[in-house]
Amino acid sequence: MATIVCNRCHRRRKPLAEPPAGGDLGKAIVEHVCPACWDEWREMSARLINHYGLNLGLPDHRRELRRAMKEFLGLEE
Ligand SMILES: [Zn+2]
Repeated sequence: MATIVCNRCHRRRKPLAEPPAGGDLGKAIVEHVCPACWDEWREMSARLINHYGLNLGLPDHRRELRRAMKEFLGLEE
């Protein structure tokens, strides 16, 4: 895949070199999110984890962060 159109910034960009997550989610991120927007999400997720005191050892908290990520990146199906 040479380039992708990013769901968040709507620009045509090179995709991430490696899926940042496993399975279908990682694949969806590579196909729909550019590296710049992925970096933005990484900063945002660190802020959310701090702000809400999320504990990623808890499934509920992981689910909540994943939901926020899909919204942020425009991956809602
Ligand atoms: Zn983008």
